[in-house]
Amino acid sequence: MTGAGQPAILTLNAGSSSLKFSLFPFGNGTAIAGGQLESLGTAPRFVAKNGTGEKSHEENWGEGRGPKHAGDALAVLLAWLKKTYPEIEVEAVGHRVVHGGIDFAAPVLVDDIVFEKLKALEPLAPLHQPHNLAGIEGSRAAFPGTPQIACFDTAFHRKHPFVNDVFALPRSYFEDGVRRYGFHGLSYEFIAGKLADMGIAEPETRVIVAHLGNGASMCAIKGGQSMGSTMGFSALDGLPMGTRCGQIDPGVLLYLMDQRGMGPKEITNLLYKESGLLGLSGISHDMRTLEASDAPAAKEAIDYFVFRIKREMGAMAAVLGGLDAIVFTGGIGENSRRIRHEVSAGFQWLGIAFDETANAANNDLISTPGSKIAVYRLSTDEEAMIAHHTRNLVSNEPPKKAALKPHG
Ligand code: ADP
Repeated sequence: MTGAGQPAILTLNAGSSSLKFSLFPFGNGTAIAGGQLESLGTAPRFVAKNGTGEKSHEENWGEGRGPKHAGDALAVLLAWLKKTYPEIEVEAVGHRVVHGGIDFAAPVLVDDIVFEKLKALEPLAPLHQPHNLAGIEGSRAAFPGTPQIACFDTAFHRKHPFVNDVFALPRSYFEDGVRRYGFHGLSYEFIAGKLADMGIAEPETRVIVAHLGNGASMCAIKGGQSMGSTMGFSALDGLPMGTRCGQIDPGVLLYLMDQRGMGPKEITNLLYKESGLLGLSGISHDMRTLEASDAPAAKEAIDYFVFRIKREMGAMAAVLGGLDAIVFTGGIGENSRRIRHEVSAGFQWLGIAFDETANAANNDLISTPGSKIAVYRLSTDEEAMIAHHTRNLVSNEPPKKAALKPHG
């Protein structure tokens, strides 16, 4: 359908148990709507917000009912969008795809050949990539002929130096793709763009961005380019996360296999779902819950989280040959005054003069004017980054509009 509708970009982030979406005007502009269907397959819930961030829709299906996977969720989402925003015409769909492998260092229009190449990367990210691709598949069926753009979490890091790309394994493993890819690239790219807008993007400017959410990593950025990341081959490495272990001695894995007789599935479950803040505290994966708890184990889990951030901060400052700014972002970075305080308080020796009042007020700049290193708290927006790339990629193509209609 074409006509007088309002052209828009739909962004999708399909995961194992959730489908996140945003709707942006095709021209520049902030999101018209956004939200997610979560707890798919257990007790699904659909929450949407309007352009001003107010809750505009909530639906709960209850245990064992409602959408079971991202495909079902997409059908529910499209039916709701069509009903709620009948004037919208989707010009293009932008997808978050966790892994672009060695080849995809930039967003790409997904055709059959690209899709097969992305499918071949599934073994590198078995917990994420199949769900991301299921989202693309469902969207291609729902919007035939509409451009589908894949935007990668790995792409921002592809130009990082060899020493950060490699493990000291025999070289053939590197050639086969056993490399340090790094993730959260869409968030880092967004923050790098924001810093550039703020005039903090000289070729020599050295910044460490800490993306702290359920998934957490840090990135060393020089002149807007990734120089290194705490995440490596998988999204397990580096900082401890909500339920993921972060850095671990590979000898522990050998011990688990040899001495405890654990197989790949058990180990995967342990490292991805039972470790991190949840495993250490025995209480919760959620930072808010841990901060509110008096239990010593909650404090110890937070202490370890902060310790690892500080340790990586020191390492990254060394990688960058000095430091001009630190940025906290992600759910924890943007909201936890305590984590920002505890990390920054440990860096007076490096020249950080932390501004407690600005931190308490959740200001963007949370260091004093005299601080040798500026410390920021900035909101990230991966969806806006996806919409930006999608808009750029399709704007030179002839428009291919599709009415919002549910699949099937
Ligand atoms: P994801 O990686 O799933 O996108 P988010 O970026 O949404 O995760 O971050 C979720 C984390 O942010 C949770 O640990 C949550 O407790 C934490 N968080 C959110 N708000 C606050 C807050 N006000 N104080 C401390 N932690 C918070």
